[in-house]
Amino acid sequence: MTKKVNILGATGSIGRSALDVIARHPGQWRARALAGGSRVAELVQACEATGAEIAALADETKLDELAAALKARGLRAEPMAGEEALCRIAADPEADAVLLAASGAAGLPQAFAAARAGRRMLLANKESVVCGGALLQSEIRRCGASLYPVDSEHSAIFQSLAAATPSQREKAVIWLTCSGGPFRTRRDLSAVTVAEASTHPRWKMGRKITVDSSTLMNKGLEVIEARWLFDIPPERIRVVVHPESVIHSAVAYEDGAVMAQLGVPDMRTPIAVALAWPERVASGAAPLDFTALSALHFEAPDLERFPQLGMAWEALREGGAACIVLNAANEVAVEAFLQGRISYLSIARTCRLALDAGLSGDVESLEGILAADREARSLARSLIDSGRALA
Ligand code: NDP
Ligand code: MG
Repeated sequence: MTKKVNILGATGSIGRSALDVIARHPGQWRARALAGGSRVAELVQACEATGAEIAALADETKLDELAAALKARGLRAEPMAGEEALCRIAADPEADAVLLAASGAAGLPQAFAAARAGRRMLLANKESVVCGGALLQSEIRRCGASLYPVDSEHSAIFQSLAAATPSQREKAVIWLTCSGGPFRTRRDLSAVTVAEASTHPRWKMGRKITVDSSTLMNKGLEVIEARWLFDIPPERIRVVVHPESVIHSAVAYEDGAVMAQLGVPDMRTPIAVALAWPERVASGAAPLDFTALSALHFEAPDLERFPQLGMAWEALREGGAACIVLNAANEVAVEAFLQGRISYLSIARTCRLALDAGLSGDVESLEGILAADREARSLARSLIDSGRALA
Protein backbone atom coordinates (compact mmCIF):
# COMPACT_ATOMS: atom_id res chain seq x y z
CA MET A 1 0.00 0.00 0.00
CA THR A 2 1.18 3.53 -0.76
CA LYS A 3 2.49 5.22 2.39
CA LYS A 4 1.46 8.79 3.14
CA VAL A 5 3.97 11.43 4.17
CA ASN A 6 3.24 14.82 5.72
CA ILE A 7 5.87 17.48 5.10
CA LEU A 8 6.38 20.55 7.27
CA GLY A 9 8.66 22.92 5.43
CA ALA A 10 7.56 21.53 2.07
CA THR A 11 8.56 24.64 0.12
CA GLY A 12 12.09 24.76 1.53
CA SER A 13 15.32 23.19 0.40
CA ILE A 14 14.80 19.93 2.37
CA GLY A 15 11.08 19.81 1.58
CA ARG A 16 11.70 20.09 -2.15
CA SER A 17 14.42 17.43 -2.05
CA ALA A 18 12.05 15.12 -0.17
CA LEU A 19 9.33 15.65 -2.77
CA ASP A 20 11.87 14.74 -5.42
CA VAL A 21 12.70 11.45 -3.64
CA ILE A 22 9.01 10.65 -3.11
CA ALA A 23 8.22 11.34 -6.78
CA ARG A 24 10.73 8.63 -7.75
CA HIS A 25 8.63 6.00 -5.94
CA PRO A 26 5.01 6.62 -6.90
CA GLY A 27 3.62 3.29 -5.70
CA GLN A 28 5.50 3.43 -2.42
CA TRP A 29 4.96 6.94 -1.03
CA ARG A 30 2.83 9.98 -1.69
CA ALA A 31 2.56 13.38 -0.04
CA ARG A 32 -0.60 13.76 2.03
CA ALA A 33 -0.17 17.17 3.69
CA LEU A 34 2.23 19.92 2.65
CA ALA A 35 2.97 22.84 4.95
CA GLY A 36 5.05 25.97 4.56
CA GLY A 37 5.59 29.27 6.33
CA SER A 38 4.03 32.05 4.30
CA ARG A 39 4.74 31.59 0.59
CA VAL A 40 1.40 30.81 -1.08
CA ALA A 41 2.47 30.38 -4.71
CA GLU A 42 5.26 27.90 -3.89
CA LEU A 43 2.96 25.82 -1.69
CA VAL A 44 0.17 25.74 -4.26
CA GLN A 45 2.65 24.71 -6.92
CA ALA A 46 3.86 21.83 -4.73
CA CYS A 47 0.26 20.75 -4.13
CA GLU A 48 -0.40 20.79 -7.84
CA ALA A 49 2.67 18.67 -8.54
CA THR A 50 1.87 16.09 -5.84
CA GLY A 51 -1.92 16.03 -5.54
CA ALA A 52 -1.61 16.61 -1.78
CA GLU A 53 -4.83 16.46 0.25
CA ILE A 54 -3.94 19.24 2.69
CA ALA A 55 -2.12 22.56 2.16
CA ALA A 56 -1.15 24.55 5.24
CA LEU A 57 0.76 27.71 6.10
CA ALA A 58 2.12 28.84 9.45
CA ASP A 59 1.02 32.38 8.63
CA GLU A 60 -2.64 32.62 9.65
CA THR A 61 -3.22 35.82 7.71
CA LYS A 62 -2.64 33.95 4.45
CA LEU A 63 -5.51 31.46 4.81
CA ASP A 64 -7.93 33.22 2.45
CA GLU A 65 -5.22 33.84 -0.12
CA LEU A 66 -4.22 30.17 0.04
CA ALA A 67 -7.82 28.99 -0.30
CA ALA A 68 -8.38 31.27 -3.29
CA ALA A 69 -5.15 30.19 -4.98
CA LEU A 70 -5.97 26.49 -4.57
CA LYS A 71 -9.44 27.06 -5.95
CA ALA A 72 -8.15 29.06 -8.89
CA ARG A 73 -6.00 26.10 -9.89
CA GLY A 74 -8.83 23.64 -9.40
CA LEU A 75 -6.99 21.82 -6.60
CA ARG A 76 -8.86 19.76 -4.02
CA ALA A 77 -6.30 20.25 -1.23
CA GLU A 78 -7.91 21.47 2.00
CA PRO A 79 -6.41 24.81 3.08
CA MET A 80 -5.32 25.32 6.69
CA ALA A 81 -3.26 27.91 8.53
CA GLY A 82 -1.72 28.64 11.90
CA GLU A 83 0.54 26.94 14.38
CA GLU A 84 -2.18 24.64 15.66
CA ALA A 85 -2.98 23.39 12.17
CA LEU A 86 0.69 22.62 11.62
CA CYS A 87 0.82 20.67 14.86
CA ARG A 88 -2.26 18.69 13.79
CA ILE A 89 -0.46 17.85 10.55
CA ALA A 90 2.60 16.74 12.54
CA ALA A 91 0.41 14.51 14.71
CA ASP A 92 -1.85 13.27 11.87
CA PRO A 93 -2.68 9.60 12.52
CA GLU A 94 -3.29 9.06 8.80
CA ALA A 95 0.30 9.87 7.91
CA ASP A 96 2.78 6.99 7.91
CA ALA A 97 5.65 9.45 8.36
CA VAL A 98 6.11 13.14 9.10
CA LEU A 99 9.05 15.10 7.72
CA LEU A 100 9.92 17.94 10.10
CA ALA A 101 11.74 20.42 7.91
CA ALA A 102 10.68 23.89 8.99
CA SER A 103 13.55 26.27 9.59
CA GLY A 104 14.46 27.37 13.11
CA ALA A 105 12.85 26.96 16.53
CA ALA A 106 9.45 27.50 14.85
CA GLY A 107 9.62 23.74 14.28
CA LEU A 108 9.71 22.95 18.00
CA PRO A 109 5.94 22.59 18.71
CA GLN A 110 5.62 20.51 15.54
CA ALA A 111 8.32 18.08 16.70
CA PHE A 112 6.64 17.70 20.09
CA ALA A 113 3.26 17.17 18.42
CA ALA A 114 4.70 14.40 16.21
CA ALA A 115 6.50 12.80 19.18
CA ARG A 116 3.43 12.87 21.41
CA ALA A 117 1.30 11.33 18.67
CA GLY A 118 3.82 8.49 18.36
CA ARG A 119 4.63 9.23 14.73
CA ARG A 120 7.51 8.09 12.56
CA MET A 121 9.51 11.32 12.58
CA LEU A 122 11.92 12.16 9.78
CA LEU A 123 13.74 14.99 11.47
CA ALA A 124 15.62 17.71 9.63
CA ASN A 125 14.75 20.58 11.98
CA LYS A 126 17.79 20.40 14.27
CA GLU A 127 16.70 23.45 16.27
CA SER A 128 13.84 21.43 17.79
CA VAL A 129 16.30 18.83 19.09
CA VAL A 130 18.68 21.54 20.33
CA CYS A 131 15.88 23.25 22.28
CA GLY A 132 13.78 20.20 23.11
CA GLY A 133 16.81 18.38 24.54
CA ALA A 134 16.14 15.57 26.99
CA LEU A 135 12.41 16.32 27.16
CA LEU A 136 11.83 15.70 23.44
CA GLN A 137 13.74 12.42 23.64
CA SER A 138 11.74 11.25 26.64
CA GLU A 139 8.46 12.17 24.92
CA ILE A 140 9.53 10.18 21.85
CA ARG A 141 10.18 7.13 24.05
CA ARG A 142 7.10 7.60 26.21
CA CYS A 143 4.76 7.89 23.25
CA GLY A 144 6.31 5.21 21.05
CA ALA A 145 7.42 7.58 18.30
CA SER A 146 10.49 6.80 16.21
CA LEU A 147 13.03 9.29 14.97
CA TYR A 148 15.11 9.04 11.81
CA PRO A 149 17.61 11.87 11.41
CA VAL A 150 17.74 13.73 8.11
CA ASP A 151 20.69 15.97 8.94
CA SER A 152 23.41 14.32 6.83
CA GLU A 153 25.92 13.95 9.68
CA HIS A 154 23.36 12.42 12.01
CA SER A 155 22.10 10.13 9.27
CA ALA A 156 25.71 8.98 8.82
CA ILE A 157 26.07 8.37 12.57
CA PHE A 158 22.71 6.61 12.69
CA GLN A 159 23.88 4.28 9.92
CA SER A 160 27.32 3.81 11.49
CA LEU A 161 25.74 2.92 14.85
CA ALA A 162 23.17 0.56 13.35
CA ALA A 163 24.99 -2.63 14.29
CA ALA A 164 26.36 -1.44 17.66
CA THR A 165 25.24 -3.06 20.92
CA PRO A 166 24.36 -0.75 23.86
CA SER A 167 27.73 -1.46 25.53
CA GLN A 168 29.66 -0.68 22.35
CA ARG A 169 27.74 2.58 21.98
CA GLU A 170 28.66 3.54 25.52
CA LYS A 171 32.33 3.73 24.64
CA ALA A 172 32.05 4.97 21.07
CA VAL A 173 33.30 8.38 19.96
CA ILE A 174 31.33 10.34 17.40
CA TRP A 175 33.22 12.26 14.73
CA LEU A 176 31.08 14.92 13.12
CA THR A 177 32.55 16.09 9.84
CA CYS A 178 32.31 19.71 8.83
CA SER A 179 33.01 21.24 5.43
CA GLY A 180 34.56 24.28 7.13
CA GLY A 181 32.20 26.60 5.25
CA PRO A 182 33.14 29.38 2.84
CA PHE A 183 35.57 31.09 5.24
CA ARG A 184 37.72 28.12 6.19
CA THR A 185 40.87 29.80 4.91
CA ARG A 186 39.90 33.46 5.29
CA ARG A 187 41.79 35.13 8.13
CA ASP A 188 39.83 38.33 8.63
CA LEU A 189 36.06 37.91 8.94
CA SER A 190 35.26 41.51 9.90
CA ALA A 191 34.08 42.56 6.43
CA VAL A 192 32.10 39.45 5.46
CA THR A 193 29.05 40.44 3.41
CA VAL A 194 25.59 38.88 3.34
CA ALA A 195 26.22 37.59 -0.19
CA GLU A 196 29.48 35.92 0.88
CA ALA A 197 27.90 34.26 3.92
CA SER A 198 24.93 33.10 1.85
CA THR A 199 26.97 30.89 -0.47
CA HIS A 200 28.14 27.47 0.64
CA PRO A 201 30.99 25.66 -1.15
CA ARG A 202 29.37 22.18 -1.03
CA TRP A 203 25.70 22.26 -0.10
CA LYS A 204 22.73 24.22 -1.46
CA MET A 205 20.51 24.97 1.54
CA GLY A 206 18.10 27.50 3.03
CA ARG A 207 19.41 30.95 3.99
CA LYS A 208 19.60 30.54 7.75
CA ILE A 209 21.49 27.24 7.74
CA THR A 210 23.84 28.58 5.05
CA VAL A 211 24.89 31.45 7.31
CA ASP A 212 25.12 29.00 10.24
CA SER A 213 27.44 26.83 8.16
CA SER A 214 29.72 29.78 7.55
CA THR A 215 30.03 30.64 11.28
CA LEU A 216 30.23 26.92 12.21
CA MET A 217 27.19 27.51 14.44
CA ASN A 218 25.56 24.84 12.30
CA LYS A 219 28.20 22.37 13.48
CA GLY A 220 27.71 23.58 17.05
CA LEU A 221 23.97 22.93 16.77
CA GLU A 222 24.82 19.52 15.34
CA VAL A 223 27.04 18.71 18.33
CA ILE A 224 24.04 19.42 20.58
CA GLU A 225 21.74 17.51 18.22
CA ALA A 226 24.07 14.47 18.33
CA ARG A 227 24.25 14.64 22.11
CA TRP A 228 20.47 14.16 22.36
CA LEU A 229 19.75 11.99 19.33
CA PHE A 230 22.34 9.38 20.27
CA ASP A 231 22.46 9.94 24.03
CA ILE A 232 26.22 10.48 23.83
CA PRO A 233 27.91 12.78 26.37
CA PRO A 234 29.46 15.93 24.87
CA GLU A 235 33.03 14.86 25.67
CA ARG A 236 32.65 11.92 23.29
CA ILE A 237 31.61 14.14 20.38
CA ARG A 238 34.40 15.54 18.17
CA VAL A 239 34.36 17.76 15.12
CA VAL A 240 36.80 17.47 12.23
CA VAL A 241 36.91 19.77 9.22
CA HIS A 242 36.71 17.79 5.98
CA PRO A 243 36.31 20.22 3.06
CA GLU A 244 35.31 17.66 0.41
CA SER A 245 32.16 16.61 2.36
CA VAL A 246 32.44 13.00 1.19
CA ILE A 247 32.65 11.38 4.63
CA HIS A 248 29.41 12.51 6.24
CA SER A 249 30.45 11.53 9.78
CA ALA A 250 31.88 8.53 11.61
CA VAL A 251 31.77 6.48 14.78
CA ALA A 252 35.02 5.26 16.36
CA TYR A 253 34.71 2.09 18.43
CA GLU A 254 36.77 0.86 21.35
CA ASP A 255 38.67 -1.69 19.26
CA GLY A 256 39.95 0.96 16.84
CA ALA A 257 37.40 0.30 14.11
CA VAL A 258 35.89 3.43 12.61
CA MET A 259 32.55 3.13 10.80
CA ALA A 260 31.69 5.98 8.48
CA GLN A 261 29.13 6.73 5.81
CA LEU A 262 30.33 8.20 2.52
CA GLY A 263 28.58 9.60 -0.49
CA VAL A 264 28.34 12.64 -2.73
CA PRO A 265 26.95 15.65 -0.84
CA ASP A 266 23.26 15.40 -1.74
CA MET A 267 20.53 15.66 0.90
CA ARG A 268 18.36 13.25 -1.04
CA THR A 269 20.50 10.39 0.33
CA PRO A 270 19.78 11.02 4.06
CA ILE A 271 16.15 11.82 3.20
CA ALA A 272 15.82 8.46 1.42
CA VAL A 273 17.51 6.70 4.36
CA ALA A 274 15.03 8.24 6.82
CA LEU A 275 12.07 7.52 4.58
CA ALA A 276 12.86 3.90 3.77
CA TRP A 277 14.89 2.59 6.74
CA PRO A 278 15.57 -0.28 7.26
CA GLU A 279 15.16 -0.60 3.51
CA ARG A 280 17.11 1.43 0.97
CA VAL A 281 15.69 3.07 -2.14
CA ALA A 282 17.04 5.13 -5.02
CA SER A 283 17.31 8.80 -4.08
CA GLY A 284 18.49 10.43 -7.28
CA ALA A 285 21.91 11.15 -5.78
CA ALA A 286 24.83 10.42 -8.09
CA PRO A 287 26.97 7.42 -7.15
CA LEU A 288 30.29 8.11 -5.44
CA ASP A 289 33.15 7.47 -7.84
CA PHE A 290 36.21 6.64 -5.72
CA THR A 291 38.51 6.82 -8.71
CA ALA A 292 37.53 10.46 -9.26
CA LEU A 293 38.46 11.43 -5.68
CA SER A 294 42.01 12.68 -5.76
CA ALA A 295 42.38 13.31 -2.03
CA LEU A 296 40.41 13.77 1.16
CA HIS A 297 41.56 16.38 3.65
CA PHE A 298 41.06 16.76 7.39
CA GLU A 299 41.96 19.47 9.89
CA ALA A 300 40.97 20.63 13.35
CA PRO A 301 38.36 23.41 13.48
CA ASP A 302 39.61 26.89 14.39
CA LEU A 303 37.67 27.79 17.52
CA GLU A 304 39.16 31.29 17.63
CA ARG A 305 37.81 32.39 14.29
CA PHE A 306 34.63 30.36 14.78
CA PRO A 307 33.83 30.75 18.49
CA GLN A 308 30.19 29.68 18.10
CA LEU A 309 31.32 26.08 17.65
CA GLY A 310 32.97 26.08 21.09
CA MET A 311 29.86 27.65 22.59
CA ALA A 312 27.94 24.46 21.81
CA TRP A 313 29.99 22.34 24.24
CA GLU A 314 29.89 25.21 26.69
CA ALA A 315 26.08 25.37 26.53
CA LEU A 316 25.83 21.60 26.93
CA ARG A 317 28.09 21.70 30.00
CA GLU A 318 26.09 24.60 31.40
CA GLY A 319 22.81 22.71 30.94
CA GLY A 320 19.44 24.24 31.84
CA ALA A 321 18.31 26.71 29.22
CA ALA A 322 21.79 27.44 27.81
CA CYS A 323 21.31 25.56 24.53
CA ILE A 324 17.95 27.28 24.02
CA VAL A 325 19.58 30.66 24.68
CA LEU A 326 22.43 29.95 22.25
CA ASN A 327 20.02 28.83 19.54
CA ALA A 328 17.64 31.78 20.02
CA ALA A 329 20.43 34.39 20.12
CA ASN A 330 21.88 32.92 16.95
CA GLU A 331 18.52 32.94 15.13
CA VAL A 332 17.86 36.55 16.06
CA ALA A 333 21.40 37.62 15.17
CA VAL A 334 21.46 35.78 11.83
CA GLU A 335 18.18 37.42 10.88
CA ALA A 336 19.57 40.86 11.81
CA PHE A 337 22.72 40.13 9.80
CA LEU A 338 20.68 39.06 6.75
CA GLN A 339 18.69 42.30 7.07
CA GLY A 340 21.94 44.26 7.01
CA ARG A 341 21.43 45.52 10.57
CA ILE A 342 24.55 44.03 12.16
CA SER A 343 27.98 42.93 11.01
CA TYR A 344 29.03 39.33 10.55
CA LEU A 345 31.13 39.26 13.71
CA SER A 346 28.21 40.64 15.70
CA ILE A 347 26.44 37.28 15.28
CA ALA A 348 29.01 35.54 17.48
CA ARG A 349 29.09 38.48 19.88
CA THR A 350 25.31 38.35 20.35
CA CYS A 351 25.57 34.65 21.16
CA ARG A 352 28.46 35.25 23.56
CA LEU A 353 26.67 37.98 25.49
CA ALA A 354 23.39 36.07 25.56
CA LEU A 355 25.10 32.98 27.00
CA ASP A 356 26.96 35.11 29.54
CA ALA A 357 23.66 36.59 30.75
CA GLY A 358 22.99 33.18 32.32
CA LEU A 359 19.24 33.10 31.72
CA SER A 360 17.64 30.23 33.51
CA GLY A 361 14.41 28.49 32.60
CA ASP A 362 12.23 25.46 33.13
CA VAL A 363 13.26 22.89 30.54
CA GLU A 364 11.02 20.19 31.98
CA SER A 365 7.99 21.25 29.95
CA LEU A 366 7.34 22.42 26.39
CA GLU A 367 5.76 25.59 27.76
CA GLY A 368 8.91 26.26 29.80
CA ILE A 369 11.13 25.69 26.77
CA LEU A 370 9.02 28.03 24.63
CA ALA A 371 9.13 30.67 27.40
CA ALA A 372 12.93 30.38 27.64
CA ASP A 373 13.15 30.72 23.86
CA ARG A 374 10.99 33.88 23.94
CA GLU A 375 13.01 35.38 26.78
CA ALA A 376 16.31 34.65 25.04
CA ARG A 377 15.02 36.20 21.80
CA SER A 378 14.00 39.36 23.56
CA LEU A 379 17.39 39.52 25.29
CA ALA A 380 19.18 39.07 21.95
CA ARG A 381 17.04 41.78 20.34
CA SER A 382 17.85 44.20 23.14
CA LEU A 383 21.57 43.37 22.88
CA ILE A 384 21.39 44.23 19.19
CA ASP A 385 19.11 47.27 19.44
CA SER A 386 21.15 48.81 22.25
CA GLY A 387 24.35 48.39 20.24
CA ARG A 388 25.97 46.19 22.92
CA ALA A 389 26.30 43.26 20.54
CA LEU A 390 27.98 45.27 17.82
CA ALA A 391 31.40 44.03 16.84
P1 NDP B 1 14.54 26.66 4.01
O1 NDP B 1 14.68 28.05 4.51
O2 NDP B 1 14.94 26.33 2.62
O3 NDP B 1 13.01 26.21 4.16
C1 NDP B 1 12.30 26.40 5.34
C2 NDP B 1 10.89 25.86 5.17
O4 NDP B 1 10.16 26.07 6.38
C3 NDP B 1 10.09 26.54 4.07
O5 NDP B 1 9.22 25.60 3.52
C4 NDP B 1 9.30 27.59 4.86
O6 NDP B 1 8.12 28.02 4.21
C5 NDP B 1 8.95 26.76 6.06
N1 NDP B 1 8.52 27.47 7.24
C6 NDP B 1 8.84 28.71 7.66
N2 NDP B 1 8.25 28.95 8.85
C7 NDP B 1 7.56 27.83 9.18
C8 NDP B 1 6.76 27.45 10.28
N3 NDP B 1 6.53 28.26 11.30
N4 NDP B 1 6.23 26.21 10.28
C9 NDP B 1 6.43 25.35 9.24
N5 NDP B 1 7.19 25.66 8.18
C10 NDP B 1 7.73 26.88 8.17
O7 NDP B 1 15.29 25.73 5.06
P2 NDP B 1 16.03 24.33 4.82
O8 NDP B 1 15.14 23.43 4.04
O9 NDP B 1 17.40 24.56 4.36
O10 NDP B 1 16.15 23.80 6.31
C11 NDP B 1 15.05 23.27 7.01
C12 NDP B 1 15.55 22.60 8.30
O11 NDP B 1 16.36 21.51 7.94
C13 NDP B 1 16.40 23.52 9.18
O12 NDP B 1 16.16 23.23 10.52
C14 NDP B 1 17.82 23.12 8.81
O13 NDP B 1 18.72 23.33 9.86
C15 NDP B 1 17.64 21.65 8.53
N6 NDP B 1 18.64 21.09 7.62
C16 NDP B 1 18.75 21.57 6.34
C17 NDP B 1 19.70 21.06 5.48
C18 NDP B 1 19.78 21.50 4.06
O14 NDP B 1 20.57 20.95 3.29
N7 NDP B 1 19.00 22.48 3.62
C19 NDP B 1 20.66 20.05 5.94
C20 NDP B 1 20.44 19.62 7.28
C21 NDP B 1 19.47 20.12 8.09
P3 NDP B 1 8.11 29.32 3.23
O15 NDP B 1 8.69 28.83 1.95
O16 NDP B 1 6.67 29.65 3.11
O17 NDP B 1 8.92 30.36 3.90
MG1 MG C 1 24.29 18.80 8.69
